Order: sequence, then C-alpha cells, then structure tokens
Amino acid sequence: MRIILLGPPGAGKGTQAKTLAQRLKLPHISTGDLLRQNVSQGTSLGKLARDFMNKGALVPDELVTQMLNQRVSQPDIEKGFILDGYPRNINQAKALDDMLKKRNIAIDLVIYLDTSEPVIIQRLSGRLVCSVCGANFHTKNMPPKVNMTCDNCGGKLYQRSDDLDETIKKRLQVYLEESAPLIKYYNDEHKLYRLSADGDKTIVLNRIIELAKEYNDSHKV
Ligand code: AMP
Repeated sequence: MRIILLGPPGAGKGTQAKTLAQRLKLPHISTGDLLRQNVSQGTSLGKLARDFMNKGALVPDELVTQMLNQRVSQPDIEKGFILDGYPRNINQAKALDDMLKKRNIAIDLVIYLDTSEPVIIQRLSGRLVCSVCGANFHTKNMPPKVNMTCDNCGGKLYQRSDDLDETIKKRLQVYLEESAPLIKYYNDEHKLYRLSADGDKTIVLNRIIELAKEYNDSHKV
C-alpha cells in the first residue's frame, strides 16, 4: 500500500508517518529527513539544500525528485511506503506520478492532516528532535524526562534550525502558495481523505489505520 501524508508543517506528518510505518510494516520515506541526513553528512546535495532549508524555502524540485527517485528504486519499496514531505507542489506530484507509473504502481491513499495555524505555531516553536534516533518531543506538550535528552535512546535533543519563529512563518506561506493546491489535485483523483489533526495524535493515528483497512478491504480481489 502506498500512502502520502499531506498537510502543513506542524500537522504531525512525521510523527504519524513513523508510527504508521511501524504498524503497517512499511518503509517511511521522509524527504525532509533524507535532506537533513545529506546536510549533516556534508554531501554535495546537502550543501546545495542547506540554505533553502534554513530559509524555510523549498529545495529545487529536480534535486528532491532525483533523491526520491533513488529511494524508490530500493527493493524494500515493493511492498509499499508511507511518504511524508513529498510532493510539495503540483510539479512534484506529476513527477511522482511518472516515477511510479514507470514501475507500474500508483499512490493508493492521500491523507490530508488539516491543522489550524495557532496549533501549527505552538507545535513547531516548541518542537525538540533527538539527534540520534529522530524521535520528536515538545517543550510543553511532551517534555523529555531529563532536560534536552531523548527518553528513548539518551541522545541529545535539539531545535531544528527551521523551527525558529520567522522561518515558521515563511514555511507556512510557502505551504499555502505551493503545497495547498495539492489538496484539490488529489481530491480530483478521488484519493484524498481529510482528517482534523488539531487534536490527540493517537485518535488521528487510529483513524488513518481505519482508512487504510477500509481501502484494503474494498480493493481485495
Ligand atoms: P520537512 O521535514 O518535511 O518539514 O522538510 C524540511 C525542509 O526540507 C523544508 O522546509 C524544505 O526546505 C525541505 N524539503 C523537504 N521536502 C521537500 C520537497 N519535497 N521539496 C522541496 N523541499 C523539501
């Protein structure tokens, strides 16, 4: 099964995608995580991407699409995937359609995590990420047991450089201009399901799992 999680920054795409991937036993592909890995490893892609990311802008389509193409060429993708952070605009959605068509596959479900602006800002401005395992915490909503230390692996927590107030505003603006049109794109393809993601993350997760089950049941041959 191939699922896209769509929604503004702070909607919980990464958090939901990680748990969903474990529950459905599918690989999680996050273009943001792949780009951050490239930045921290100092690859040529990372060097090109870093400034765009720090400004809250999108990394050019060709770079991200090429990176994703490499990822979907790996064998673990055959059973499906949970895609988070891609596509970010219509051009990328079309590139993804082409990329999958060449492999005789297509996206099954697009889950749109609808989130209000005050919730987005509150979530992002307090977000803390583990530098070792990537787990997310929050200064108020989910503080770690020990200051700036990951509960899961003991790694050091940090604030993402694009989670600063000014950059959050820029990312929201980019989302509205570039990514929000994807809602209509996938709605027109009858693949879109809209869920309110302002509330409890477990409720949102359970609803996504239900949707995936309903999809599977209605497509059994
Ligand atoms: P994310 O972790 O999904 O919030 O992504 C963090 C940053 O990585 C974004 O603000 C962009 O600068 C960059 N990025 C991630 N995915 C994409 C994409 N599909 N296209 C362009 N830039 C991306």
